[in-house]
Amino acid sequence: TKYVYLFKEGNASMRNLLGGKGAGLAEMTRLGLPVPRGFTITTEACNRYYEDNETIAPEIESEVFATLAKMEEITGKKLGDMKNPLLVSVRSGARASMPGMMDTILNLGLTDKVVEVVAELTNNPRFAWDSYRRFISMFGDVAMHVDKSHFDAAMDEVKAARGVKGDLELNAEDMKEVAQKMKAVYQQQLGKPFPQDPKEQLLTAVKAVFESWNNERAIYYRHMHDIPSSWGTAVNIQEMVYGNMGETSGTGVAFTRNPATGQAGIFGEYLMNAQGEDVVAGIRTPFPITHMAEQMPECYAQFKEIAATLEKHYGDMQDMEFTIERGKLFMLQTRNGKRTAFAALQVAADMVKEGLVTKERALMQIDPSSLDTLLHPNFDQEALKAAKSIAKGLPASPGAASGGIVFSAEEAFEVTQSGAKVVLVRTETSPEDIVGMNVSEGILTVRGGMTSHAAVVARGMGKCCVSGCAEVSINAEAETMTIGDKVFKKGDWISLDGATGCVYDGAIATKPASLTGNFATIMQWADEIRELGIRTNADTPKDAKVARELGAEGIGLVRTEHMFFAEDRIFAFRKMIVAKTVEERRKALAELLPIQQGDFEGIFEAMKGLPVTVRLLDPPLHEFLPQAEEDIVELAKALNITVDSLKTTIHDLHELNPMLGHRGCRLAVTYPEIAEMQTTAIINAALKVSTPEQPMVAEIMIPLVCDIKELQFVKRVIVKTADKIIKESGKSLKYKVGTMIEIPRAALTADEIATEADFFSFGTNDLTQMTYGLSRDDAGKILECYYNEAIFESDPTAHLDTKGVGQLMRIATEKARAVKPEIKLGVCGEHGGDPASISFVNTLGFNYVSCSPYRVPIARLAAAQATI
Ligand code: ADP
Ligand code: MG
Ligand code: MG
Repeated sequence: TKYVYLFKEGNASMRNLLGGKGAGLAEMTRLGLPVPRGFTITTEACNRYYEDNETIAPEIESEVFATLAKMEEITGKKLGDMKNPLLVSVRSGARASMPGMMDTILNLGLTDKVVEVVAELTNNPRFAWDSYRRFISMFGDVAMHVDKSHFDAAMDEVKAARGVKGDLELNAEDMKEVAQKMKAVYQQQLGKPFPQDPKEQLLTAVKAVFESWNNERAIYYRHMHDIPSSWGTAVNIQEMVYGNMGETSGTGVAFTRNPATGQAGIFGEYLMNAQGEDVVAGIRTPFPITHMAEQMPECYAQFKEIAATLEKHYGDMQDMEFTIERGKLFMLQTRNGKRTAFAALQVAADMVKEGLVTKERALMQIDPSSLDTLLHPNFDQEALKAAKSIAKGLPASPGAASGGIVFSAEEAFEVTQSGAKVVLVRTETSPEDIVGMNVSEGILTVRGGMTSHAAVVARGMGKCCVSGCAEVSINAEAETMTIGDKVFKKGDWISLDGATGCVYDGAIATKPASLTGNFATIMQWADEIRELGIRTNADTPKDAKVARELGAEGIGLVRTEHMFFAEDRIFAFRKMIVAKTVEERRKALAELLPIQQGDFEGIFEAMKGLPVTVRLLDPPLHEFLPQAEEDIVELAKALNITVDSLKTTIHDLHELNPMLGHRGCRLAVTYPEIAEMQTTAIINAALKVSTPEQPMVAEIMIPLVCDIKELQFVKRVIVKTADKIIKESGKSLKYKVGTMIEIPRAALTADEIATEADFFSFGTNDLTQMTYGLSRDDAGKILECYYNEAIFESDPTAHLDTKGVGQLMRIATEKARAVKPEIKLGVCGEHGGDPASISFVNTLGFNYVSCSPYRVPIARLAAAQATI
């Protein structure tokens, strides 16, 4: 196996092996762009590192040094050389971009001796010592885990002694002192001197990058974005170029379009006389990139041209990092830029308009799950106008957030555990804050630009963020923040408008989102391309209406039990389940019939002209039993029986394993009168709503079938009841009878079951639970441990397990279609709204997926992507 590739040996298609950063550097090199030379150690080497108990195998080590020798030959510089020393960066870079989650070390190769050589060669001792102090602190922090604050303290001491504030005001002598102090910190913290052998530095740094793959925040980020831990990270070793060489040097980051709004045109920030993380860490306030047109016109023109080339080449908006060394531009990174859903739609629509990409490619740019954020409520415009903005920062990530103030990520996490809403207010965020950011409604930072850590991460999460709001001052000690002359305490409510950057005192009313403009256009493109139908799971007319507005083409699942759980109905329902005789039960059911029929009428009306699948009662009876003493007493009274006798009945109905007990079609088999009542309600409602112009097609679905005979039994009850009502009505009405496939045995005997079913709907929630034998209601704690031990990569109840559960679905599909090619197949579990699962059922050739109303647009886009 080859574990190390020179940049010039790779290309964009080698992303899995070289990581996103490595593949990007290789591709830019191939395109002839100005990229500092270097090589990439593959993700496979990272995986080997973990297989070999966190050691670098000798053959990998020697390949690294062999490739380094090649690089030394190409550059004419040598690591640790006293004449022409090579200095490198050691950069992490996984297959999927994980901004700021892993580690990078700059200026490696500097030692006490080399720093003098560099000072002499460049005739710039300040630069040399500045680079050295940066290297010592980065190496100490990243590779040796010395808390960064110790190094920062050394810097602050020297600044204080000189009476200066900014790092630019320190001269060569000062920087030398900082470096020396940092070396002392290193020695003191670790009990050994700062390593003076560049090769040792290099190996330690490579190890540190491998290890950063499994730091806490990287693990959390992976989990949040479904990135498998098996991917590993690559390591890029790259010749340093210097943005900190003086006034004609600088460093910056830029997007080809605005990542918050999608607006066309270069968008970014840079700092002169700075290095690496200075821009994103918010150490000084950077300039907007357009300012570069005046400051460095030639570099700016060249950069614009490169940006356009890259965007066209990749067919997507690019996020680039660059450095200018004494007037010469170098590209250090390019990747498809993270953007808000709002921006994603704008970019996709614009790039098609500009003729840069096809509709298909434009659709592929958009992360379907991110659309979710557009469906969140926005501030009510009237309420917003009435509110007074108290401060204004940068509109870093759009959205509407209201919540109580917290000042730390830990606190955000704690407070939200009880369901409270918070806005996280920070001077600036750091990668460790990711958990706290995720649970907050929004993030407000005092410092940092549009490309600061807070902004980048918030956009990636679809979270509202206002950054760089200098009018806010935080008193960490007192846990207060001041805006103007108003002091806000912890827990006081504020609101953020991420689209304008405005901050408001108190909460502001919100309004549901609507599907217009680019969103409507993109959805229309998706509809033209997709083959899968999209239905919704809805139990009320309100949900049905929402879903229809969002593009649902029918209902794939009406859960009838939700109707019974309602406060005013459960009483009648309980009478039904504790009934001792068929007569008593019929009497209770008769009370429920008009209520249930009314529900169906409302839903059918909302979906007029579209198919609606109604599932017969499914949950364990157990769940409906009264538990509170007062409920029992009341029920006994109504039934005219003693409390004791009711308690006996309840005791008898108690089940140890209710999810595998008296539920699903078993209810209809034991109590056919329930199925009769529900069929009556469905058919009556359909007759009432149906018109010749818009005929209603009711689909009656029987849950939890495991054998054809039970399906036949319940179907007979349904057909007999339905046909009788239709006949008596004198009207014509079509209806279908189908079944859910959610028990493995049903999947395995699908050829038999299909002969009796007009349609199958795969209840993948139960099918997953039963295939794994893992209770979905109790799995949370177990799964947590399984993720940590990397036994499971993701929650099988969220992403369909294509290997096992999917195998059962494939078997069922093939068997059913063999005996009944026209049988309709759908999915109605939670997976119906999950892009990865949608892609899988698309390959099985299903007719539709059904998901919750707000996931309908996500499913429409995911279905289109599955086809492309
Ligand atoms: P991240 O993945 O967190 O963005 P990078 O590996 O991209 O980390 O490094 C962060 C920054 O360090 C880059 O944006 C760049 O400014 C600087 N950097 C990395 N390598 C070099 C290099 N060879 N020369 C100059 N600057 C570099
Ligand atoms: Mg980077
Ligand atoms: Mg089920």
